[in-house]
Parts: sequence; structure tokens; C-alpha cells
Amino acid sequence: MKIETVIEDQLNRLIEVRTEDSYTVESVYYRGDTLCVSTQLGCPVRCAFCASGKNGLVRNLTAEEIISQYELSVADGIEIRNIAFAGIGEPLLNWENVKEAFWYFKEKGLKCSFYTTGFPTKAFRELLELPHSGVTLSLHSVDEKKRKQLIPYGEPLEKILGVLKEHLNGLSKRKRKMYNIGYLLLGGVNDSDWELERLADIAKELGIGVSLLKYNEIEGFPFRTTTDEEYERAFLFLKNRGIRTTLSNRYRTRKIGGCGTLMVNRLREKPENQSV
Ligand code: SF4
Repeated sequence: MKIETVIEDQLNRLIEVRTEDSYTVESVYYRGDTLCVSTQLGCPVRCAFCASGKNGLVRNLTAEEIISQYELSVADGIEIRNIAFAGIGEPLLNWENVKEAFWYFKEKGLKCSFYTTGFPTKAFRELLELPHSGVTLSLHSVDEKKRKQLIPYGEPLEKILGVLKEHLNGLSKRKRKMYNIGYLLLGGVNDSDWELERLADIAKELGIGVSLLKYNEIEGFPFRTTTDEEYERAFLFLKNRGIRTTLSNRYRTRKIGGCGTLMVNRLREKPENQSV
């Protein structure tokens, strides 16, 4: 693999890496210490709001290809202390390779956190037992039918939440701080009072926080971001119910490298026989 292109703004550094079979995949360096790595070429989950999954999966990345995103960035002179498995792909759907890369990073003394939709649940259970530095379960809707529309591939919400609950039961309040529900606020779609109320109930029952994510609008996608007022209202709604709530940090809401904006083969012609 080799670095193909680097695009930077004041906060983020988007690194496009080319694979041996001529695909390109992206990682993002942000906050001056964290590399968000991709785990798959494309994504089979095809979340309705996400550019990374728009065209489905091409193939899994190998463990070497996941590790290379880190190695190439280090060789390029950047300092990395944390790895976020939060780029293109669902880490649990490429679990063996992700696990191998995880242990490699751990041996290097890096902290590793994960963003996941929680499917497959067998891999989710294993992830929860790893010495990770944080797991955010992407919920995005508290309504089974609506969640299926937003996150089409996966198990019922109840089952995924059941796995998380089982794990959290044995943990202290301090350790639970490493766990969050990820909730991407989509204007007029999942931000009604009853949905936020249910979200607060779920977080309260699990004893974990909510990471309230602001949507990065993507051309051709039928979703709008929330206004600052809507975003603040949702934040206060949860906070006033005693939920530890964090907002999208400024690195995650950039045009360059913001959540849901990473792509396979952004800047080049498709190689022959490529479906993306
Ligand atoms: S949000 Fe994550 S799981 Fe969903 S399509 Fe995008 S990369 Fe895949």
C-alpha cells in the first residue's frame, strides 16, 4: 500500500491510501493524536445517510492493510497515540482482521476505540471483552422499523442492546464511562420528543452516556443536518434527564474527514471490474 493523496484543512488530515489492487481507501488524522482507520473497502451495512456504505462492500481489508494505514501515516511524520476503528466499514463484519490489527496496535502502546452497529452479536460480545478504550454503539433510532431503514443490515435493536446490557451489568460506574450510545441527529427524522425520551430511558437503563452526533450533509442524500437550535434542544433534553451527553467535536463535523463522509475511490477512475 502507499499514500496516494493527503488533503488537509485547519483541523483534519484526510489520508487516501492505495491498495495493491488499485482501490483507494481513506483514514483521517485529527486532534493531533488520533488516527481513524477504515476496516473495509466500502461497507455492507449501507446506512442510509453514509457515503462510505453507499455502494456496498467491495471486500474486507486485510489486517496488514488496516495496520498499513497507521504505519504509512507514522512514516509520513505524524504522531499517533489513539486509533479509532471508525472509518469506512463495520469493524465487526471483518472481525478476525480487525482483532489482529487491534492487538498489533495494543502492542505498540496505542489506545483503541470502536464505533459499531453491534452486528454480528457474537463479534460484539468479543469486542466488549477486549482491553479497548471505548465502545460507541451506533443506535441512530430507538424505533425498530425506523432503525432498519437507517441501518438496513443487522440484528434487532433489542438483541443488540441485550448483549450490551449483559456486559455492562458487571461493570462499575467508572468503567461504564467508556461506553456510549452513538445517536446521529437527522433533522425531522429521529429528533422528536418521544424518540429522545426513549433514548434517555435506554441510556439510563444501561447507565451509559449518549454521544449526540451532528450530521454532515452529503450531496444526493435525502437528509438534513439539524440547526444549532435543534441540536442544542436535543442536548438539553437529554442532559436535563440526567444523561451524560457529549456533542460532536469540531473534528467530526468537517467537510474533510467528517463522520460519514469517507469514501472508496473518491478521486479516481474505477479500476476495471470494480463495482464501487
Ligand atoms: S455508518 Fe458505518 S456501518 Fe453505516 S454504512 Fe457507514 S461505514 Fe458502514
